Amino acid sequence: MELDCLFCKIVHRQLATPLIDEDDQVIVFNDIHPQAPIHLLIVPKIHIASLLELPKKSYLMTHLSQCAIQQAQKNGIDSKGFRLVINCGPEGGQTISHLHVHLMGGRPMLWPPG
Ligand code: 5GP
Ligand code: ZN
Repeated sequence: MELDCLFCKIVHRQLATPLIDEDDQVIVFNDIHPQAPIHLLIVPKIHIASLLELPKKSYLMTHLSQCAIQQAQKNGIDSKGFRLVINCGPEGGQTISHLHVHLMGGRPMLWPPG
């Protein structure tokens, strides 16, 4: 755990955030500033600063996508379509330095995203 990491605090229940789902590797909760009717964050329990470090834990890549598909199915957006986003670094729009996958759906997504 990184002491000054917001998502580590949520993982370790030092910051009260209702969890939508949890397993041994990840937690899932609503984004505080949703950009779509459904906007979930899928967050590994271990601290990984960004996508750049994910290959060191390659098993997590599969698990994160499995979780995202499962949440899309639970929210009934799997057939209509949805978007997964991993922002990486400052120009990638990453604001929290703890790897997370955004799952967004419930409206048509625009492209390019801007
Ligand atoms: P990033 O910009 O790093 O890809 O995504 C970070 C996301 O975390 C943002 O979409 C932001 O709205 C969300 N976020 C930031 N602080 C909190 C918080 O305290 N609680 C929750 N639930 N989401 C947060
Ligand atoms: Zn962290």
